[in-house]
Amino acid sequence: MGYDTSSSEIAYKRAEQVIAGGVNSGARGPDAGWVPSPPVVARGEGAELWDLDGNRYIDHLLALGPMIHGHAHPEMTQAVTAAIRDLSTMYALPYELEAEAARAIVDVVPSVELVRFSNSGTEAVLHATRIARAATGRTLVVRFEGQYHGWADQLEWSHHPDLAKAGPVLRPNALPGSLGIPEAFGSALAVMPWNDAEAIEGFMAERGHEVAAILTEPVMGNTGVIPPNAGYLELLRDLTTRHGAVLIFDEVITGFRVALGGAQAKYGVTPDLTTMAKALGGGFPVSAIGGKRSLMELVADGSVLHAGTYNASTLATAAVVASLGILSKPGTYERLYATSERLQHGIGAILTDAGVPVQVQGVGPMFQTWFSETPVTNYREAAAHLNSPRYATLVRALLERGVMVHPSNIELWFVSTVHTDAHVDRVLEAFADAVAETREVLVAGTDA
Ligand code: PMP
Repeated sequence: MGYDTSSSEIAYKRAEQVIAGGVNSGARGPDAGWVPSPPVVARGEGAELWDLDGNRYIDHLLALGPMIHGHAHPEMTQAVTAAIRDLSTMYALPYELEAEAARAIVDVVPSVELVRFSNSGTEAVLHATRIARAATGRTLVVRFEGQYHGWADQLEWSHHPDLAKAGPVLRPNALPGSLGIPEAFGSALAVMPWNDAEAIEGFMAERGHEVAAILTEPVMGNTGVIPPNAGYLELLRDLTTRHGAVLIFDEVITGFRVALGGAQAKYGVTPDLTTMAKALGGGFPVSAIGGKRSLMELVADGSVLHAGTYNASTLATAAVVASLGILSKPGTYERLYATSERLQHGIGAILTDAGVPVQVQGVGPMFQTWFSETPVTNYREAAAHLNSPRYATLVRALLERGVMVHPSNIELWFVSTVHTDAHVDRVLEAFADAVAETREVLVAGTDA
């Protein structure tokens, strides 16, 4: 088949004439691993995608997380089209469905008493750090190497830093993730290694009085999947409380995915502020910042500005009500976990049987593999395996067999509510076949 000399490539080249790099987000183009060019999508339905060449894929990319109900889920489509038809799309005035959508979040996310809606995860995290700085009168935000909190100048630091410049393991340098980010923003951040209790304890003992917030993904999901060590989230909770700082969980990926109440419900650790997006809107652009009444009241009384022309469109709020409605049905998470775990075990067994050292790391319906002998617990351990050429070779073979995943192992495999055991059977069959074809590279190759 070879989509590289295909209708996809022709369409991509045409797009490149008018769209910078041919794509509208960094993770979609050749730079991110889609070489020589990404397949161009014709349409999606349920758990499947079709490209312009008629190739059909079982989709585990799922738009990098939002499509928790697969593509064009009838209940999602019905809710959003009804909202457009019956309500129009936005007014710059309140309307009732907004409160219904907010209520759906408050009812299920343990720490959230009040919310505000925005459109993207990036916006939600920016608002969260602003509220934390306002509440504490402090500037410093602690963030962790290997995590991602959006593309903004204030936060796109030390996401996937070059180890040659990253500095000491326990006190990493803050490194900007793009040209054009002013140095000054780096001095408002402290970058720490994740999952290292001593490092964060030492740092807080020294500079805790300067810290406005510790910002963390509760399950690291932007360097494959790295679950929290036992007790680590509890430690972050304890340290922030002790030092008068705000604990922010960035649940843009984990929210409504690892449990209806997010990672905070799964691990039983309650942050002060939470950012949510992706599964929240089931494929429509919406994010939310939520938290304790005492913090969100700064927004309520206008002392912290939260604004946006497009915030809480009827598309967004209808999507939230529909997405959380589907997720609230009994048995949803049991099914999501069972489907994903079957896939994870199957993938692990196929690679192990082929003699490939592998760690399949996941939390419910999000996972990734590392070609490593030992579990990966932080960015520095992951760095040796990041953007693995072996993994990219395997993904090319998977794409040729109708399984859609991102070619870089920094991204994840996602499972939706519409993936079935029959899909898992087909993916595992394709996986076994792809491993058989690429075994030599997988066994003998390196990740460098
Ligand atoms: N936080 C996390 C944890 C994310 O994974 C992402 C996006 N992948 C963001 C924030 C930014 O969200 P958005 O792309 O919607 O701006």
